[in-house]
Amino acid sequence: MAAKIISGTEIAAQIREELKKEVAEIKEKHGVVPGLVTILIGENPASISYVTGKQKTAKELGFHSIQDNQPENISEEELLRLVEKYNNDPTIHGILVQLPLPKHINEKKVLNAVDPDKDVDCFHPVNVGRLMIGGGEAKFLPCTPAGIQELIVRSGIETSGAEVVVVGRSNIVGKPIANIMLQKGRGANSTVTIVHTGTKDLASHCRRADILIVAAGVPGLVKPEWIRPGSCVIDVGVNRVGEKMSEKTGKMVPILKGDVDFDAAKEIAGAITPVPGGVGPMTITMLMKNTVKSAKLAAGIK
Ligand code: NAD
Repeated sequence: MAAKIISGTEIAAQIREELKKEVAEIKEKHGVVPGLVTILIGENPASISYVTGKQKTAKELGFHSIQDNQPENISEEELLRLVEKYNNDPTIHGILVQLPLPKHINEKKVLNAVDPDKDVDCFHPVNVGRLMIGGGEAKFLPCTPAGIQELIVRSGIETSGAEVVVVGRSNIVGKPIANIMLQKGRGANSTVTIVHTGTKDLASHCRRADILIVAAGVPGLVKPEWIRPGSCVIDVGVNRVGEKMSEKTGKMVPILKGDVDFDAAKEIAGAITPVPGGVGPMTITMLMKNTVKSAKLAAGIK
């Protein structure tokens, strides 16, 4: 039987509706408006497109949002001063510095300068540490991993006691999602294995997975025969494998493929995310969710 397709587009739309209501409510009852600043350095087309998407969503949800564009040659000191300005701005609850930064700027130094209470990307070591400690310590969950967990939970997939295998150990996806899934509590409490480039037999680990989360950035890495029948497959990979003409706009657009051979895998898995339209739409949505939470925490709203 073909797998249930987990639509990130639909689940993200549902969460955005919930957030819109929440934003209207805290505005009406408490006069609080969530504020998000996105800082963009230079003119990298991919970065411009990511930042535009974040700003558009923030506006749709009723946020106070600022798009702060800075030239490619901004100095590290100037950028650190800018971050400090937003750290001290009470109308801003979330600060996002769009990566990658130009080579002359120390990325770590800039990310570590963001006030952990406004670090809605959850990249600051304090927030990474809180996530690892668990037990309600974490103020924010990193956006892509939080989106993955929401997809699993809202699709009604049992996580408690489940064998979760994560392919990839990056700080943005692999390590944090593994950390989230092993915590005690709702939507987690799983037995987690992380596999990576140093793993001897990738296939044998994947075959054990009740929930297989793949974030390697290698198109088609996970073969259909590695998938346990009836399991849940979350494909985080977004790989540009070519270009095609868009029927809507007539412009050339990238052809995107995941890390899993979707067409074959959907005949074996019980549930699976497509690429695009799976994890992707969840990332921005969880950024918005973190910003609303930050605004509520700052105002002492429960
Ligand atoms: P990364 O390159 O930082 O990490 C990839 C990880 O996969 C590494 O830890 C590496 O050890 C592992 N890996 C790579 N090749 C492997 C192989 N052959 N066997 C076993 N392990 C292997 O990448 P990342 O930032 O974690 O992103 C992973 C993918 O997810 C990319 O395609 C990226 O575009 C995508 N991504 C999507 C979203 C989203 O919102 N949808 C967000 C972040 C990343």
